[in-house]
Amino acid sequence: MKIGGYFDYNAGTPQSDGVKKAMMAAMELFANPSATYPSAVRSKTLIQQARQNVARLIGAEPEQIVFTSGGTESNNWILHSIMERASKGTVFVTTAIEHDAILSSGRIFCDQSDHFMYVVLPTHEGIVTAGNVAEICGIHSVSLLSVMLANNETGAIQPIADIAKVAKKKGAFFHVDAVQAAGKIPIDVNALGCDSLTLSAHKFYGPKGIGALYLRDPQNFSPFIIGGGQENGLRAGTENITGIAGFGVAAAEVFETLETRIKHNQSIRKVILAALDTKKIPYIINGPTDDRFVMANTLNLSFPGFRAEALVVRLGICNDIAVSLGSACSTNKDRRHSHVLQAMGLDEERLVSAIRISFGTFTEVNDAKLLVSGLEEALVMSQGIAEGGR
Ligand code: PLP
Repeated sequence: MKIGGYFDYNAGTPQSDGVKKAMMAAMELFANPSATYPSAVRSKTLIQQARQNVARLIGAEPEQIVFTSGGTESNNWILHSIMERASKGTVFVTTAIEHDAILSSGRIFCDQSDHFMYVVLPTHEGIVTAGNVAEICGIHSVSLLSVMLANNETGAIQPIADIAKVAKKKGAFFHVDAVQAAGKIPIDVNALGCDSLTLSAHKFYGPKGIGALYLRDPQNFSPFIIGGGQENGLRAGTENITGIAGFGVAAAEVFETLETRIKHNQSIRKVILAALDTKKIPYIINGPTDDRFVMANTLNLSFPGFRAEALVVRLGICNDIAVSLGSACSTNKDRRHSHVLQAMGLDEERLVSAIRISFGTFTEVNDAKLLVSGLEEALVMSQGIAEGGR
């Protein structure tokens, strides 16, 4: 498929040229970074450089960054690490809009242990308020609170700094899943007030299968994966040098050009919405209506009266355009609707007609216009089929 027809950046972004180049170069570094001869030192230096870049992206120190296989592993690690050593009967609090790397793993962990899990519901616009978090936390003994910085389906940005205050007051460990936010909005771990934070390279132009866990106090942690003592003894296994090289360059690129990227996404968003309005296509935005609380690159739209599956399939087959039904990761599961949109309390008509359009650095204005034209055709076609079948 042509890159311009790709509108599923929240599932995974294309890799930038800089990332590809760095990865190709890293493939030449075959020496194990744990060894001591000069070629091994070069591998080690590459890892250190990447660690600095990742730390800089989120306002952390390099020693606070542990490389992992991605967002899923980082989230699972925190959950297990904190809850396994928490007193019996204590509670894990999270939100109904989290990714399954938190929601499913939390449910399974609590089902199999002496702990309980409580889930905070978002508003109708997909925002979890500090007040709602405080209400749930107020009546339980909370060991771990986990809230995502930005939602993968709606783009809703959560009031993390306010929620951090609730966690602090309760003495709970506060984890933030920033997988979707990184590279799309500024992140500063100190301003957020979190104890740990998850990143994944493939959401911001890096490779898949590499990510990181930020730990405010890494010395207080034990490893999730045990073996040869890599990553300061916190995450064993010979380092994925190629992935780490790509991750480091991706982190540097988005950090240095974030403002331009945000402005670009804002302009693409405007083009899509303006084209829908010009063509008089009725739609409803699922998510925050105030632009300050939504990542500019994400548009979750319902087209009442239509079925999202039909629109997505037609766009793919007839226009070679890729959009998503919701969370790409949950399409593997036997779920009828997006758990995020359901938690927001949307009615059936909005649920069945919702599509997620997500874009980024490589999306051009003309791509956005072609998307809306394709969407118009798909809507007309779907209407024709529905009317013909009556
Ligand atoms: N957290 C969020 C919010 C995500 O959107 C995803 C992936 O879509 C993950 C975690 C999982 O990350 P990874 O694919 O790196 O395991």
